[in-house]
Amino acid sequence: MIKRTPMVAGNWKMNGSRSLVESFSDTLNTHSFKEVDVVVCPPSGYLSFFVAETFDTGGQDLSAQDNGAHTGDMSGTMLTELGARYVIVGHSERRENHGESNELVADKALKALDNKLVPIICVGESLSIREQNKVNDFVGAQLAAVFDVLTTEQVSKCVIAYEPIWAIGTGKTASPEQAQEVHAFIRETLAGKEKSLAEKTRVLYGGSVKPDNAAQLFAQPDIDGGLIGGASLKTEDFIAICQAA
Ligand code: PGA
Repeated sequence: MIKRTPMVAGNWKMNGSRSLVESFSDTLNTHSFKEVDVVVCPPSGYLSFFVAETFDTGGQDLSAQDNGAHTGDMSGTMLTELGARYVIVGHSERRENHGESNELVADKALKALDNKLVPIICVGESLSIREQNKVNDFVGAQLAAVFDVLTTEQVSKCVIAYEPIWAIGTGKTASPEQAQEVHAFIRETLAGKEKSLAEKTRVLYGGSVKPDNAAQLFAQPDIDGGLIGGASLKTEDFIAICQAA
């Protein structure tokens, strides 16, 4: 049985300031996080202001293209130069607000790997999909698109984040049982490709994780940590969540 190191990644979304980056770096660097990988994903313009000693940084998105005529986009090479080690791909806000398809998300994951970045691939259903009892079909299709583009070996270098859309920023967390059920499905899907892939791959939960519900969620057998939105902007809350992992 392979032991997976838990991970807590903060997704600042389009929030923060240079002074928050500075105070965040200062405070986080005074903590040595044991047996948990800590990642902060600020807006990319802030990446170079981080002094990250006890944690890593990541982007929130990247282009599926190489450098060139793509106004407003950010490439994997640039994120790497800015010190990022990770990059979120396929967050539901990108899928919804920017029309990102399952196929584009898979291409972005591949581009991240080409640039030695670890993709954190987000999947998750809307409330209406859940009410129609189609969660596994929906999440399964999101994962299948990734497997169409990435080899098993490449998927083993990724992190998956299950984020039910109805739980993001709403204060409605999936119950530990609801989350575990989908995490188990994701792990079965990975095992369907290769048993060791399921054992190695970290699957994070995201959606209204707070200091008071983190420990219960992270205690589930198939939940390996969290992708944290709102609570990742409050240093003390974020640290408490990292310590719960
Ligand atoms: P939330 O966001 O923690 O604010 O619900 C999670 C996310 O969108 O990654």
